[in-house]
Amino acid sequence: MTFDCDLFVIGGGSGGVRAARMAAATGARVELAEESRMGGTCVIRGCVPKKLMVFASSFREMPAEARAYGWSIPDGTFDWGAFRSSLDAELDRLEGVYRRLLAGSGVTVHDQRARVADPHEVELADGRRISAKHILIAAGGRPERPDLPGAEVGLVSDDIFRMERLPASMLIVGGGFIACEMACILQGLGVQVTQFYRGAQILRGFDSEARGMVAEAMCGRGIDLHLGTTIETIGLPDQIAAGRGLPVEELRAAPVALLPASGPVAVRTVTGRNCQADAILFATGRRPNTAGLGLAEIGVKLGRKGEVLVDSYSQTAVPSIYAIGDVTDRVNLTPVAIREGMAFARTVFEGVPTPVDHDLIPAAVFTQPELGSIGLTEDDAREAEEIEVYATSFRPMRSAFAGVEDRVLMKLIVSAASRKVLGCHIVAPEAGEMIQLAAIAIKMGATKEDFDRTVAVHPTMAEELVTMRSPVRRG
Ligand code: NDP
Repeated sequence: MTFDCDLFVIGGGSGGVRAARMAAATGARVELAEESRMGGTCVIRGCVPKKLMVFASSFREMPAEARAYGWSIPDGTFDWGAFRSSLDAELDRLEGVYRRLLAGSGVTVHDQRARVADPHEVELADGRRISAKHILIAAGGRPERPDLPGAEVGLVSDDIFRMERLPASMLIVGGGFIACEMACILQGLGVQVTQFYRGAQILRGFDSEARGMVAEAMCGRGIDLHLGTTIETIGLPDQIAAGRGLPVEELRAAPVALLPASGPVAVRTVTGRNCQADAILFATGRRPNTAGLGLAEIGVKLGRKGEVLVDSYSQTAVPSIYAIGDVTDRVNLTPVAIREGMAFARTVFEGVPTPVDHDLIPAAVFTQPELGSIGLTEDDAREAEEIEVYATSFRPMRSAFAGVEDRVLMKLIVSAASRKVLGCHIVAPEAGEMIQLAAIAIKMGATKEDFDRTVAVHPTMAEELVTMRSPVRRG
């Protein structure tokens, strides 16, 4: 049977683009459809603009620090409009890079939505049908608002990068990656941030000690963090104050991205607390983008959240269809999607069956200070085996000199039996950079003694990782 192409990729994000280019490099005829901007969540409305906003917000504290070091620098003001113009230009540039990479690889791009019509055919929004030997679903995910009347008046992370002005105050709902990163960014840019998290401590899944330290640092920066707090009702401030609650039509009608211009919004929590802010950001998780893709209809199995269920080679229940990245809801991180795309291309187009290795994935939360993490948390490791915990918390030289209260945490979880380092958790400026390097050693199976015989780089914060001699806890 002949096909129009060897591979049709649905989704032009980090994973889909990498898989398309790698497949094309083997001589395969590859086509790709993207309904939005090329580059996907990471480049257009995720990691990249987020990190640029982290950089922008980090300058807020610099004048005071510089003054402590003898500089004569006044506090500055932040111009959101100027930053947004530069941000838009940078994202345009990056999108152009992605397009050129695809064109240079010989991949045919369709700037429109595609859905799967049968196991070997996709249908484009303009009605054209294209047959393919293999189809790769790399459609990513999208932010999800909670199931709460009036929740549609809140912003989601996609909207943050398109706001026309910075609100004076923002209520952020959620305690995960996006909620905590956005809380630090917006507070740093001068927005008064209140954060509501329903659980006992933010950043569920990370090491408890590290979570506590990030939460403390966030509060220290002025973020009004409320734990164990759940919203019951959204409305206009006077409605909420009067104990009523249904969202009004003016709120519903407000164009979401412009909401900060539409006036304050208020919420009431289940415990009866009222809170008012210029805007609400729901950072309450993401959902795989499978609605309307036609997958279940042709026998592709989907999970409870709508995620595409795949085996360790990213193959779905329909043998000609594979799926990678956030649409599979395995580990929702850009570098993992890229790995999955590469493993797919190796398996299907290079003939080398390559399962995806999801073990020991390092991650960083770009709060201020950052949290870098790999491997088991102290609690999870203790459940699994006998451990030793090496940890130190201190004021780093740079902030101690400037009279800043920030503390950092360096923590290693070590197997008492094998001596292997099972987990490493760092709370510090640039912890993302540090954990990347520690991750190499830990992925290689380094023991505590391997860390110990590594000479320290002095004076650094990370040298503590190789100079901790006695465990602070065993068990
Ligand atoms: P997360 O799953 O990390 O966090 C969602 C948060 O929302 C949790 O705190 C969750 O609470 C809370 N929540 C969920 N539903 C509700 C609800 N109905 N009402 C109130 N609170 C609710 O999702 P994010 O959207 O923050 O990020 C999505 C994923 O994107 C991350 O998991 C990560 O994989 C990736 N990401 C990675 C980044 C990085 O690498 N630096 C940055 C940003 C995103 P609970 O804990 O109780 O479930």
